Amino acid sequence: MSRETTMVEGFFGEFGGQYVPDDLKKALNHVAEYYEQIRKDPEFQRELEYYLSKYVGRPSPLYFAERLSEELGGAKIYLKREDLNHTGSHKINNVLGQALMARRMGVKRIIAETGAGQHGVATATACALLDMDCTVYMGREDMARQELNVFRMELLGAKVQGVDRGLKTLKDAVDAALEDFAQNFTNTYYLLGSAVGPYPYPQMVRDFQSVIGKEAKAQILEDEGRLPDYVVACVGGGSNAIGLFAPFYDDKDVQMVGCEPGGTGKEMGDNAASVSYGAPAVLHGFRCYAIVDESGEAGPTSSIAAGLDYPGVGPEHSFYHASGRAKYVPVSDDEALEAFQVLSKTEGIIPAFESAHAVAQALKLAPTLESNQIIIVNISGRGDKDASQALRILKSR
Ligand SMILES: *Cc1c(COP(=O)(O)O)cnc(C)c1O
Repeated sequence: MSRETTMVEGFFGEFGGQYVPDDLKKALNHVAEYYEQIRKDPEFQRELEYYLSKYVGRPSPLYFAERLSEELGGAKIYLKREDLNHTGSHKINNVLGQALMARRMGVKRIIAETGAGQHGVATATACALLDMDCTVYMGREDMARQELNVFRMELLGAKVQGVDRGLKTLKDAVDAALEDFAQNFTNTYYLLGSAVGPYPYPQMVRDFQSVIGKEAKAQILEDEGRLPDYVVACVGGGSNAIGLFAPFYDDKDVQMVGCEPGGTGKEMGDNAASVSYGAPAVLHGFRCYAIVDESGEAGPTSSIAAGLDYPGVGPEHSFYHASGRAKYVPVSDDEALEAFQVLSKTEGIIPAFESAHAVAQALKLAPTLESNQIIIVNISGRGDKDASQALRILKSR
């Protein structure tokens, strides 16, 4: 059974859907119709490929981490270098795809929401490139914590709209953005940053990020003449992971491992590992594995990696877990911080804290495998943004 035949009207098995009010449904279906048109439009695909190549710098290399592999003494580890993309992570793949689509829809105004600021900066970048009006909703609390990213967005020409309701963090920014979208969808496009949210976003974001897995597959066949035994990626909302995994879905011998933010422990509030420690629930308009409290509200979460700190996970990952196609494991803050240092020292590559979760899992996995086996690890982003936090943590020890 292929993934698409199991998908009924925006569902992956029992996950996904559109659990939203009618006015928002209208806005979402407008996007879905448009997406159906452009996904098979060769002219659109050519335009996207042009920017991915000339602006982002794709294809990103698939690099054999020889020193790391030797040191661990097991499988060969290959790194998919999304950290080398313009703006330093995989986020630009999706943002460019959606912004180009919005431009074709005739929309001039883009809205987005951001917590740590990474998605806001990526969106502001694409809007500068394509000359589009950009408003980024951000909780007032997050704005105070992420001053530099607020400045980056403004430098790129975006308007950062502070949100003062609730706890003044990501959830409140999401609510504000959704309200704006429901009211203004005829002239406004809501650009979502991960493979989450109501249909059609998870499908669309997966498709735009699948360039990662498609390239990796062609590259490993070129270098090794065979498919990998494992593909490993970190999972926040799940966009970089689904982008790597989905093109290998039908290759049943390729095992998929999603690395969740295990934080400091299993208790609610100490992690953001939605599959490992959560349960099926409806969150932010779609059904998925989520960390929710007794009243069904999104529970408190935490992670050393701001980009992984989300109480839900994409519906396709939820389905991959429920059907057993992929495995999801928690990786602790300490393990990620250790991997952050190991990869820096052995390969001269400083990974993002998020990506370090995937590296940490590879450090555990490789020594248990044979030397003719292959692991591909997605380095979703570069770690420059995390260096000062790493310094603070390591100094305090
Ligand atoms: C945002 C981010 C992530 C998490 O997002 P996904 O949608 O789960 O991929 C992972 N790595 C980096 C570097 C990020 O910036």
